[in-house]
Amino acid sequence: MAFPHNNQCIHCNVTSCKHWDDDDRCKLDSIKVAYRQGCNSGDCEESMCASYHTK
Ligand code: SF4
Repeated sequence: MAFPHNNQCIHCNVTSCKHWDDDDRCKLDSIKVAYRQGCNSGDCEESMCASYHTK
C-alpha cells in the first residue's frame, strides 16, 4: 500500500550518500530497498538501499 504525500521519515546513517541529511535522515520522499545477490545470511545484510548515490 502506498502512502503518497505523507510524513514518512527515513532514518539513515550512511553519511557518504548524497541524499543523507543532518539528524541521520534521508532527504528523499521514498527509497528503494533491494535484495543483495548472493547473500543468504538471514540477517539485515541481505538488503541494501538501492537509492544510494555517492556524494
Ligand atoms: S538514499 Fe538510502 S543510503 Fe542514501 S540517505 Fe537515503 S536511505 Fe540513506
